[in-house]
Amino acid sequence: MKNVLCGRCVKCGKEYEATANLTNCECGGILDIIYDYDYIKTVLTKEKLAERDDRSMWRYRELLPIEDTTCNTPLRVGWSPLYEADRLAEELGLGKLYVKDDGQNPTASLKDRASAMAVAKAKEAGAKVIACSSTGNAASSLAGNAAAAGLKTYIFVPSRAPKGKVAQLMTFGATVVSVQGSYEDTFELSKAAIDKWGWYNRNAAINPYLSEGKKTVGLEIAEQLGWKMPDYIAISVGDGCTIAGLWKGLKDLYAIGFIDKLPRLISAQAEGCCPLNRAIATGEEWYPMEENTLADSIAVGVPRNATKALDAIRESKGIVVNVSDAEIMAAQKLLGRTCGVFGEPAGVTGTAGIKKLCEQGILGKNDTVVSVVTGNGLKDVANAIAACGEPISIPSDMELLLKAFAEKGIEVEN
Ligand SMILES: *Cc1c(COP(=O)(O)O)cnc(C)c1O
Ligand SMILES: [Zn+2]
Repeated sequence: MKNVLCGRCVKCGKEYEATANLTNCECGGILDIIYDYDYIKTVLTKEKLAERDDRSMWRYRELLPIEDTTCNTPLRVGWSPLYEADRLAEELGLGKLYVKDDGQNPTASLKDRASAMAVAKAKEAGAKVIACSSTGNAASSLAGNAAAAGLKTYIFVPSRAPKGKVAQLMTFGATVVSVQGSYEDTFELSKAAIDKWGWYNRNAAINPYLSEGKKTVGLEIAEQLGWKMPDYIAISVGDGCTIAGLWKGLKDLYAIGFIDKLPRLISAQAEGCCPLNRAIATGEEWYPMEENTLADSIAVGVPRNATKALDAIRESKGIVVNVSDAEIMAAQKLLGRTCGVFGEPAGVTGTAGIKKLCEQGILGKNDTVVSVVTGNGLKDVANAIAACGEPISIPSDMELLLKAFAEKGIEVEN
């Protein structure tokens, strides 16, 4: 890889050759992929990008840690839409709001960006089998992207994973182990199994290439905004790999001179599980927390990418915001009603955070904000119904329809 210099430990600084099956530092720290920006500047320009037909994350190959000879993965991952959300901005009292709907990825979450990268690197490593543990979306995205590329998957999910995600896993032909315990228990079992059988490891906190896949969400936001950066980008945080990846992408663009300003990150977590935001707010080290939220994708009591995530939030002069499950459900309804975007609970947690910061007067009329919706609501239909209610249910009878409208106080428009 001409564009990559090495993998460097975020804890002790030790450097490693960027081989395809690179994992953690011997000190236990996670590696960061270090690029040769001077070289990248000679092979990538904004004009070159603008001419490119590739509407997927692979349009940014020069900024990604893959060999020239590595093929794009088969599913179309990335290049999700960035909508102007004027009605929602007005309701919230924000200057300008954009919604990046990453639920439109092939398996319906932002995790596809990391899983496509994992599949590309597994192919480079000559692996036939990939494994991971996941709260659900990393699993379903890995299973889908691997199936398309002809690789086998072994997947470990906590038993609380919503049915929609489990249905995806079974459909994509994964061998699925539903672990009766927390995400932490799930992670530990997957680690033991991966050690035993030597599968290619897609665990985000171990494989340093995954956040490089996730960073493409940041690259896209910048390109879609014509390289004019917003004041803030809000995103939900569990393990911390996603927000760290987003930040890495933005810093890459800054380093090669594509953008001249870095936005501030808004790290949104659930009140019932916010170990990283708590560390930022108190200035103390992070320590484990209960996994007490309906937003299953970010119910991560022991965040595996804490160092990278905390660094990203601090470096960006970021804001942390914790939201209750009720606020998450309200955001799900609000986003649906004003934007036609259907997010899963963790998917709309960033939006819930923006709403709260508007109410607190921290964000307002002078701010331009991007809200990343990280996963699609169809993955977790039960919680969507709980948030947004049941429909009117009647036999096919006009009288009953009039009665039902009257009872509900619906003033029928035409
Ligand atoms: C995984 C996930 C997140 C958080 O990403 P982390 O890397 O765990 O911080 C947010 N939203 C959704 C929908 C996810 O699947
Ligand atoms: Zn180290």
